[in-house]
Amino acid sequence: MSLAQVQTLGDRYLMRTYKRAPVDFVRGEGSLLWDADGKEYLDFLTGISVCSIGHCHPAVVAAVQEQSARLMHVSNLFYTEPMARLAERLSESSLGGRVFFTNSGTEAVECAIKVARKHAHGRGIAAPEIISFEGEFHGRSYGALAATPGLAKNEALGPMLPGFRSVPRNDAEALRAAVGENTAAVLIEPIQGEAGIYPTSDEALLAARQACDEVGALLILDEIQTGMGRTGSLWAYQQTPVRPDVMTSAKALGGGVPIGACITAPVAADVLEPGDHGSTFAGGPVATGAALAVFDVVNDPALLRRVRELGAALRRDLEGLDGVAETRGRGLMIGVRLEDGIDAQALGADLLGRGLVVNVPAPSTLRLLPPLVVDPDQIERAVGLIGESLLGLSVS
Ligand SMILES: *Cc1c(COP(=O)(O)O)cnc(C)c1O
Repeated sequence: MSLAQVQTLGDRYLMRTYKRAPVDFVRGEGSLLWDADGKEYLDFLTGISVCSIGHCHPAVVAAVQEQSARLMHVSNLFYTEPMARLAERLSESSLGGRVFFTNSGTEAVECAIKVARKHAHGRGIAAPEIISFEGEFHGRSYGALAATPGLAKNEALGPMLPGFRSVPRNDAEALRAAVGENTAAVLIEPIQGEAGIYPTSDEALLAARQACDEVGALLILDEIQTGMGRTGSLWAYQQTPVRPDVMTSAKALGGGVPIGACITAPVAADVLEPGDHGSTFAGGPVATGAALAVFDVVNDPALLRRVRELGAALRRDLEGLDGVAETRGRGLMIGVRLEDGIDAQALGADLLGRGLVVNVPAPSTLRLLPPLVVDPDQIERAVGLIGESLLGLSVS
């Protein structure tokens, strides 16, 4: 099928929830993608940090092939070894409590919200509240949506789930003031991803931790985008002064296979009991087998050091380009603010034409989420393409 034929079909039969770029990708390997015409692209988005260890990583492909030929699914009414082993890896590498598996990030947040509300119920709170910062993204189901202030404003989708509040981004004072006796949890991203890569300040994180401790509420960090090595540590919180009580993971966790997880510290490990929560598909042996392979690649001090070094080099090179006002982020999670007057949408489209895949989360912002296994030559190539594209746009 030609691109035009695929577009005609998709535009006729898919719900119009996404504006898709006119490209039909058919193959990926490491940092590279190819479209149906055989054109090569350097992928600095990795499916929004899903294919973080590169497309079709051999260890993930082998794990999926081997497990899918042996046993694909049995339900959560039974044990499987990959599920138990992945739960151990996730818990022991982070908060030390129990894990609930899901099929997506949104569902991991949904589980965290349920844990927070039931934990609050146990403390005698009848009208629990969950507090977030403006600009955060936690997902699209009604629970996660209510915790996503920018999207929860959409009245056409209402009524929203009650019990959610937000305060301005990084406003530690406002957060402290908002936390009170009805607070079930503070739910925040260590770095706001969808908003355009805005790191949450240490001061705001510390305020959240202290305020939660004072009233007995849970601190939930959404590490769906920041986790699994993206920022140069296995989990982003490890480079901050706080440790959460509950954490969510997804995106990069499965290396391209859909899987999410809600991970708890001991304080929240036993909140959910039989009957409180469940999922038919979640934690299946193919997805957890893939995630075990990803985990072993990412949980490597040498790889994580390289992510920090390459991220610093990429930011330095980008900041040297005419048209770049500032960069934000940590590790290989980078937001680029363009100078006033530069149309980021036009830049993103032009870069796609030149063979570089990036994302434009806000009018003057590029988001770069290159593979953690990117090499310095590819970084140089990407910066060169962005520089040429900026020059071309400012000339025309
Ligand atoms: C992507 C994302 C989600 C939602 O994950 P899905 O897999 O799309 O449901 C939630 N929180 C954060 C921080 C994300 O980046």
